[in-house]
Amino acid sequence: RAFNFNAGPAALPLEVLERAQAEFVDFQGTGMSIMEMSHRGAVYEGVHNDTASRLLKLLGNPSGYQVLFLQGGASTQFAMLPMNLLTEGKTAGYVKSGSWANKALKEAKLIGDTFIASSSEEDKYMSTPDVSRLQLPENTAYVHLTSNETIEGTQFREFPDTGSVPLIADMSSDILCRPFDLNQFGLVYAGAQKNLGPSGLTVVIAREELLKNSPKHLPTMFRYDTHAESNSLYNTPPSFSVYMMNEVLKWIEEQGSLEGIEEKNREKADLLYQTIDNSGGFYRGCVHPEDRSIMNVTFRMASEELEKLFVKESEKEGFVGLKGHRSVGGLRASIYNAVPYGSIKALVDFMNQFQKSHG
Ligand code: PLP
Repeated sequence: RAFNFNAGPAALPLEVLERAQAEFVDFQGTGMSIMEMSHRGAVYEGVHNDTASRLLKLLGNPSGYQVLFLQGGASTQFAMLPMNLLTEGKTAGYVKSGSWANKALKEAKLIGDTFIASSSEEDKYMSTPDVSRLQLPENTAYVHLTSNETIEGTQFREFPDTGSVPLIADMSSDILCRPFDLNQFGLVYAGAQKNLGPSGLTVVIAREELLKNSPKHLPTMFRYDTHAESNSLYNTPPSFSVYMMNEVLKWIEEQGSLEGIEEKNREKADLLYQTIDNSGGFYRGCVHPEDRSIMNVTFRMASEELEKLFVKESEKEGFVGLKGHRSVGGLRASIYNAVPYGSIKALVDFMNQFQKSHG
């Protein structure tokens, strides 16, 4: 298997792929693949409901939350969220932390009034914005933040207390990488294709009351209440992706749940950041150390030529996905939950070797 550092779709646990392979053509003696079954049948519905309850269980089963399985990616949530919650006479606060936060803000502006609750633009998004003293107008519908900026490589350590104003998070690139208190949030959403499973599935976890009163004029498929009332079975769900997520959640339980996963993720990230920091400036981390992501490690070298050579030589050695996002350049290793420690070890060995030959 390749050393897969793709940003998304990204590596899945080998054990999960093998389990899925074993029941690919005959799911538990039904004579059918799970993807060939009716989404209205008891077998699929069992998987569907089990996936939602496993997810809530991993998050400590806080009361009053519901899981939705949607499609259209996190990008659709950028619009669906304000369509449902940013109603007439209200404004929404956006924390400008980088590329994905800006995309979310751009969509919200098409729907209603917004304001910048905090920003790290002046720091070129190489740190997370200060969210310790947010000033929120009385008519604030919600505050939106991006818990992990996949492109720049920043990640919030702590989340603000927004009182009675719902806090909303795009957790696409760090959901389930560590424990977090769901009670702090009104709604979180994530495209599945990094830490949850294959692409095609978008997960929303929200306080039930936020899913109840979608504005009357919204078309059926864009209403949270449609999906909440029909247990995400209003139309055909991405059933195979939900099944795969179910297997990923079982795998996370086997890793010691979120505490166990976090410990492993920190070991992996520490090894990589230490290699960068101990290289005497040959490799340079992009982000302020206290705001570095444990999921997306961004770094640079002395010149773009050297970075290109690094990517080219790494590919020859079986490394995939180390080129930084086209909008910012540089190098990026995405080290989501499923990337094994052994892949990071192989990467740092390669980095040390590359420095010896080209340093
Ligand atoms: N938000 C973040 C933080 C992301 O990393 C991504 C994709 O990489 C998106 C949103 C967009 O997700 P999707 O492609 O599922 O629309």
